[in-house]
Amino acid sequence: MKNYYDILGVPKTANEEEIKKAFRKLAHKYHPDKKGGDEKKFKEASEAYAVLSDKKKRAEYDAYGKTFSGSGGGPQGGFGGFDFSNFSQGGFQGNFQEFDLGDIFSDFFAGGRPASGGKPRGRDISIDIELPFREAIFGTERRVLIAKISVCESCGGSGAKKGSKLASCSSCNGKGEIRESRNTFFGNFTSTRPCPRCHGTGQIPENPCGICNGQGVAKKEEEIRVAVPSGVSDGEMIRMPGRGEAATGGGAGDLYVKLHVKPDKVFTREGNNILTSLSIKLTDALLGGEHGIHSLDGDISITVPAGVAHGEIIRVREHGVPHGRGARGDLLVRINIEFPKKLSHSARDLIEKLKREGL
Ligand SMILES: [Zn+2]
Ligand SMILES: [Zn+2]
Repeated sequence: MKNYYDILGVPKTANEEEIKKAFRKLAHKYHPDKKGGDEKKFKEASEAYAVLSDKKKRAEYDAYGKTFSGSGGGPQGGFGGFDFSNFSQGGFQGNFQEFDLGDIFSDFFAGGRPASGGKPRGRDISIDIELPFREAIFGTERRVLIAKISVCESCGGSGAKKGSKLASCSSCNGKGEIRESRNTFFGNFTSTRPCPRCHGTGQIPENPCGICNGQGVAKKEEEIRVAVPSGVSDGEMIRMPGRGEAATGGGAGDLYVKLHVKPDKVFTREGNNILTSLSIKLTDALLGGEHGIHSLDGDISITVPAGVAHGEIIRVREHGVPHGRGARGDLLVRINIEFPKKLSHSARDLIEKLKREGL
């Protein structure tokens, strides 16, 4: 008896998301269309997922070690409820009563991968931006120059010379896609792929645009404005949909901006709070008083209470990281008491006097 939890490598307590994630990982590893794929393992994982991703089947499996619902979808009943007949290069389309695999398989086709409708999609791009500490706290704006494939300005993406017409593509009869049948262990499955001649548009320019050679897209440098919101952390990613590369006859990919925040000499961040330190003399610690400190909003004055301890933290409200609708974290000032290393004769006399007083 196969253990579906073991197959997916998840505990019995795994939630829907964990199960989906585990299957996604295995599906990528073993997908038979992939190099180094393993049909048997893929089928096994798919079978486990078909059961564990379905609330009813999972409950039956947990209780009885097999499932009864669905058409032949049981562990011994073979491989049911898993309709691969609509598998196309555009991802799974059509009828998935059991579960939706669209997002699980969508990135098998990265790099000009067809989006819905079989249209190609431009590549995603990722860039890195380094930010000084303070700019990450308050938000900033960056203009970056990116060399990427963009829609041809001369023909507006049609690929046709100005004033010339588009004709129906003869390779696909203007349909934009080519259908193919294949036999696999899942049975016969029909796949459609975008017509390579017209890139899925179904149309061919009569007179190709001279700038992009009729492709509708061309490599060029583009200045992109990246708005960095306040309070971003090191390693955070900003996704800009549609700002990636363009594809002939299709949509644009996304731009991912990875943020690197440079550390600051004075401040460190702890969630929405900012940490800094203040060194004071022993006498200031004993007597208390006002002290000037640096804050993100400029120099401010704080009151150190008499008898403050070494390492004690003084909280300055609302001088931390801005986070949503005017809310701000706090500035936390760690007190560092500087003990004298050497004492003058007169200082020593005074301290001995204090000692006699019982201090
Ligand atoms: Zn052009
Ligand atoms: Zn065509």
